[in-house]
Amino acid sequence: MDASAAALIAARPALRADAMDGLLFEDVPLAAIAAAHGTPCWVYGAETLRRRFRRLRACMPSIAIHYAVKANDHLAILALLAEQGAGADVVSAGEFLRARAAGIPASRIVFSGVGKTGAEIALALEAGIGQINVESAEELCEISALAAARGLMARVALRANPDVDAGTHEKIATGRAGDKFGIPFADIAALYAEAARLPGILPVGLAVHIGSQVFGTAAFGAAYRKLADMVRHLRTAQLPIEMVDCGGGLGVPYEDQPETLPEAWAGAIEAAFAGLDLRLAIEPGRWLVAPAGILLASVIRTKRAGMARPILVLDAAMNDLVRPAMYGAWHGIVPVAAAALASPCEIVDIAGPVCESADMFGRGRSIAPLEEAALVAILDAGAYGAVMSSTYNARPMAAQVLVDQSMDLSIAGGSGFCAIRERQAVESMWSMERVPSAAGKLVLGA
Ligand code: PLP
Repeated sequence: MDASAAALIAARPALRADAMDGLLFEDVPLAAIAAAHGTPCWVYGAETLRRRFRRLRACMPSIAIHYAVKANDHLAILALLAEQGAGADVVSAGEFLRARAAGIPASRIVFSGVGKTGAEIALALEAGIGQINVESAEELCEISALAAARGLMARVALRANPDVDAGTHEKIATGRAGDKFGIPFADIAALYAEAARLPGILPVGLAVHIGSQVFGTAAFGAAYRKLADMVRHLRTAQLPIEMVDCGGGLGVPYEDQPETLPEAWAGAIEAAFAGLDLRLAIEPGRWLVAPAGILLASVIRTKRAGMARPILVLDAAMNDLVRPAMYGAWHGIVPVAAAALASPCEIVDIAGPVCESADMFGRGRSIAPLEEAALVAILDAGAYGAVMSSTYNARPMAAQVLVDQSMDLSIAGGSGFCAIRERQAVESMWSMERVPSAAGKLVLGA
């Protein structure tokens, strides 16, 4: 097998190469999933998700885990995490309602985000949301008015912007001064005191989230120490503070780079807040779900004639998985067929069919020559994958499949997997569109 594919497979416990069945994901042949549901197709592994949640839980036994719904908001994923004991971190009314629909009680949901509308805040308050992480003085005033008008007390944490550079991609850094997120650190003490005076507001603590795909513990530690100092300061000023929300951000080794283990993250939290007698919470997204998902795709054709390097054109594209186009993100890509896994490789570029030069999944990749319809697996696609999909180029949303060996076999037909979202019907892409006629009347779409 190609050394890079072998290493990628070996580093991922959910994957195994079988001499007959090719690439298996949680012991299910990916070829069987493609045969049943077609491609492109998202495949999630329930056991991988459970295993990762249990690992976090084990190294942070007394910290509340509020899963960041934005990473993957499928109801089946949310229900699975809820079953494990996760709460949720949401950033819109839609995410709040999704989390509720998946069985997460409102009291275990935290509402983050820089642009909560009045209607969203009111909805969350009336439903009994556990906590709102406030991102500005203006938002705090609005929450106060909305809560007071309803005779409610909003439990709020002030999200501080600690001015810490998480050393991550520019587009997913959130904790530097100038980033749109959080309240400037210098304003926190005064605003917390004001929060304690405002009607309808019960200030419970502080929150921070410095960015996503963060490696090492230095940046986490720097931010947490600032928050710990602020907790001491607020207490000296006789202000009540009972909790700190440490945010998410732990990185995933997409390229098998040295990993920062959740135990190290837990250590940074413990080191900063030990002895402060606080309730602590985290909001992990990517670390939990990225390795639990694959984007399964087929080769449309290999473009060779006149090319400096062959281009493998897949039936998945940037409208399905936008991370490579948006962030220059790297995902491992491996063939699925046993023969291809065992064959000598060539160097190719790997593209999607969308009419954008950015629609490239990888350049200079080593992979066996693949025929039309051969399958490939794009790895670690469970986070910020399907949630960011669009129908650009009028491409329907891909199917989604859950592999769960513990699933009721009658539901899964005994296969260990089942569709959790059907491929979007082509017509449904325009079923809500209306075409005004020349006479000014609306013609209903077909
Ligand atoms: N919490 C907040 C407020 C976020 O904005 C995000 C995403 O950036 C997360 C948690 C989850 O981050 P990650 O998926 O990197 O763990």
